[in-house]
Amino acid sequence: MQKIQPETVTPYFKEIFTLQETQLVDRYKRHLNYLRISITDRCNLRCIYCNPPLPSRKLRHKDVLRYEEILRIARLSVSLGINKIRITGGEPLARKGCCDFLEHLAAIEGLKDISLTTNGVLLKQDIGRIASAGIKRLNISLDTLNPLKYEQITGNDVFKQVWEGIQLALEKGFDPIKINVVVINGINDEELTELAALSFKYPFHIRFIELMPIGKTFARYADPLLVPEIKNKIQVLGELIPVQRNQNDGPAMRYKFNGAMGEIGFISPVSKHFCKACNRLRLTADGHILSCLLSDICEDIKTPLRRGLLDHDLKTVFLKAVEQKPLAHPETLTPLAQPGQMVSIGG
Ligand code: SAM
Repeated sequence: MQKIQPETVTPYFKEIFTLQETQLVDRYKRHLNYLRISITDRCNLRCIYCNPPLPSRKLRHKDVLRYEEILRIARLSVSLGINKIRITGGEPLARKGCCDFLEHLAAIEGLKDISLTTNGVLLKQDIGRIASAGIKRLNISLDTLNPLKYEQITGNDVFKQVWEGIQLALEKGFDPIKINVVVINGINDEELTELAALSFKYPFHIRFIELMPIGKTFARYADPLLVPEIKNKIQVLGELIPVQRNQNDGPAMRYKFNGAMGEIGFISPVSKHFCKACNRLRLTADGHILSCLLSDICEDIKTPLRRGLLDHDLKTVFLKAVEQKPLAHPETLTPLAQPGQMVSIGG
């Protein structure tokens, strides 16, 4: 591994380099091994809680990181201790060349886990390439099983296409297939048991996510249903038995119904922060490293990269982002000034 010269960095960097040469450790001793990369801010859906209503400002083509640039940053991150990468967006599969990119990403030595978050609209056409790239873990967003409601939430009449894509992913042996359900009070809250019941029939991990107050659209759904209420609603299906967590688990609290093939997960960014155990960094489509989803503190890595900085200098940009990682995001979440931010950060 190329060494960063301690004199070029702050005392904090000196400390972490003496302690752990190949690990990213922040000021609060959290080991950061997980990078979420948003490869595009564009999406083929317009989910009411995520993508702002049209017209919305999108990044210019030249401002979006090229695949080679993302791969270079990914390699750098791996040399610093990242071993888990998730590709997200916007809609990652909507960016041309995504499957080729996944193949290159999967070839990075030292990267143990690559996963993809998608809305599933293009799964049918891409599933073979995703599988042959070596991706095994998929998160698919699906907030309803009702095609009309699906259109109401996403602005597109493509439920059938997504559902067939999910079935194909199952046939191809992807494991786990996590179904992300954002709970929108007044829209899909009456359907949660039906969604949870999928775990009896399929080996899916159905994950209920509290709606986060991000972007202006949130104001319309400002009364999110929280995990305790969600749990109550679906417990009519049976007792939720806790599943032993493993070290690769994210923030989801995992459960299973007796006799079910799949699992139920709850993600509670609003009612119960998981900041203390946060092991994540994010790379945005326009080349910023973000150390907290709900903070706008970030480090621009694209500009130095395009100026031709060497790897060891780029690593210091990474480390600066790590140094700035806050202990927690604010106790009370309020809508951020920027509308539709989630679609550009990738969740
Ligand atoms: N297009 C892909 C998809 O739909 O899965 C990836 C990007 S999307 C931003 C990633 C995840 O963030 C999705 O599961 C989505 O439901 C979730 N998400 C978006 N906005 C959210 C919000 N305000 N609160 C909670 N989850 C949100």
